[in-house]
Amino acid sequence: MSNDRQHKATRLAQALHFINPAHGAVVPGIEPASTFARDADYAPMGRAVYGRDGGPTTQHAEAVLADLDGAEAAMLFASGMSAVVAVFETLRSGDHVVCPKVAYHGTITWLNRMAELRGITVSYFDASKSDALAAAVRPETKFIWIESPTNPNWDITDIAAAAKIAASTGAKLIFDATCCPVMTTRALDLGADIVFQSATKYLNGHSDLTGGVLSTRDTGALWDEMRLVRTLQGTVMGAFEAYLLIRGLRTLHLRWDRACRNAMEIATHFSDHDGIEAVLYPGLPNHPGHDVAARQMEGGFGGMLSLIARSEASARTIATSTRVFVPATSLGGVESLIEHRIAVEPPGSAVSPALLRLSVGIEDVRDLIADLEQAIAQAMP
Ligand SMILES: *Cc1c(COP(=O)(O)O)cnc(C)c1O
Repeated sequence: MSNDRQHKATRLAQALHFINPAHGAVVPGIEPASTFARDADYAPMGRAVYGRDGGPTTQHAEAVLADLDGAEAAMLFASGMSAVVAVFETLRSGDHVVCPKVAYHGTITWLNRMAELRGITVSYFDASKSDALAAAVRPETKFIWIESPTNPNWDITDIAAAAKIAASTGAKLIFDATCCPVMTTRALDLGADIVFQSATKYLNGHSDLTGGVLSTRDTGALWDEMRLVRTLQGTVMGAFEAYLLIRGLRTLHLRWDRACRNAMEIATHFSDHDGIEAVLYPGLPNHPGHDVAARQMEGGFGGMLSLIARSEASARTIATSTRVFVPATSLGGVESLIEHRIAVEPPGSAVSPALLRLSVGIEDVRDLIADLEQAIAQAMP
């Protein structure tokens, strides 16, 4: 059966049916070389020339990710933020960017820095309002940056509708799919030009590397410029991390499936609970983005949700009282994490001080629910 007739989970589990032609190993090895010899005609022997542009292990991981995302090409970076920076480094003075008001704090911090130093203008829109994006776009808009679900309120943006808005002004639509790995949101098919993901999160899934990936529909001049930024800054992912990432990717569909099911049970359980003001999760039918999420996500509504506690003090008590949930930032790993989000947000953040962000892992959900129950009990009067 040809590769493109197999399902994504099959291609992913086999890291593209990898078999090393030299000895039959079914797992790609770690190739640490920083330079690569040329042949008798002085042509590169493979696709790698010098380590700062990535070696064979990183290139294999990129091929797996491009396949997963249905992309023409994928590019791996040493962190999610270095991928974000490579996108914004292509902006020129006078360019305009549209971004959600509540989005990943590093993205917002970098955009504000660009606005201060480079003459870029930024409009932040309210992602919980369906007409806010269209109102923020201008003729000089270069990038429309969207996140869905948005971190940490889990608002949903309609990707296909955003793509229509982008096409009408000639802007590029860039989708941060970190909280929704692309196998479940076919963002490029829905019209996004570039998909960004922090590979630190679900893609790797084991909280043991930092990385980022860009996937593109077209490899044109813009893509080449992002690649040049990576090459000149040396922000390519290293071979060891790429090896770990390939290993993590092989179980992405299993981890994602379990995290989605666990998160749905937790959201349902606490949606009518005395110690909790509100549950934010797109899987709940009363969530304002539920219908769009059901249309554009596949396999579940994700492993991320937030609980709004009765007060900031109550949120702090809950976050310091769990015994199964680990009190830490980050998301998308096999272990469940709880975070009192306001503690890591920049000054002036729009995030509720009573918000607890949960990254639901793959543990037995009964232990997760019991843990939250006992922690919430400690915060009750
Ligand atoms: C973590 C994260 C990033 C940044 O990625 P790093 O790997 O931490 O640099 C960007 N966007 C979202 C939504 C994230 O969760």
